[in-house]
Amino acid sequence: MTVRGSEESVEARLRSGLLVCWCGGTLRPWGHARARRVATFAGLAEVVPRRGICRDGCGRSHVLLPGFLLSRRKYAAVVIFAALALRAAGLKVSAVAARLRLPVPGRAGQMWSVPASTASSWLSRFADRAGQLRQGLLGLLPLADPQARPVAAAGSPSADALAVLDAVTAGLRRRFPRLGTVAAHEVAAHLTGGMLLAPALPVLAGNTTLIAMAAVTPS
Ligand SMILES: [Zn+2]
Repeated sequence: MTVRGSEESVEARLRSGLLVCWCGGTLRPWGHARARRVATFAGLAEVVPRRGICRDGCGRSHVLLPGFLLSRRKYAAVVIFAALALRAAGLKVSAVAARLRLPVPGRAGQMWSVPASTASSWLSRFADRAGQLRQGLLGLLPLADPQARPVAAAGSPSADALAVLDAVTAGLRRRFPRLGTVAAHEVAAHLTGGMLLAPALPVLAGNTTLIAMAAVTPS
């Protein structure tokens, strides 16, 4: 599952019993997951996600993945979503990859581009599940935004899925003041428990999770 906010904020909420399990139980501290290095537009980030365990519900432990990460991906979700948006806007895969410029660690001012093979793997994985994702998001849209209008077709299955994700994100921002700055990649990460690009797309989390997302979001 994913959590928003700084490490300190996650720690404080975990200790205060404010983080909620999928099952509705309360998560308590349960060590840390392994450290991982993630490429972001601001350089490499070293992340050591916290783990929580559900004490009064299902009893399962969860890695509390920061909302800017996707499970098993070495790039921040915002970088991956930039690729999805560029592709949806009609760029070729090689052009998408070339446009994703990241700082070279330790060398001020130098940039490198995401390898085309890496961008291609994100895009094809997303395209494979775009229809399923769109259906799931369409089911959540009335919950996120009771006044939502039908989402216009955007030209490809991937673009269509992104359009519905944007509508859900806009609805959440309006409905929950605490989610006023939530980004589409955070919503996607949260609703899939970070598994947006995992081998199998999980069933999207439902209404309880949308509400929980707003309730536990740091102000
Ligand atoms: Zn639980």
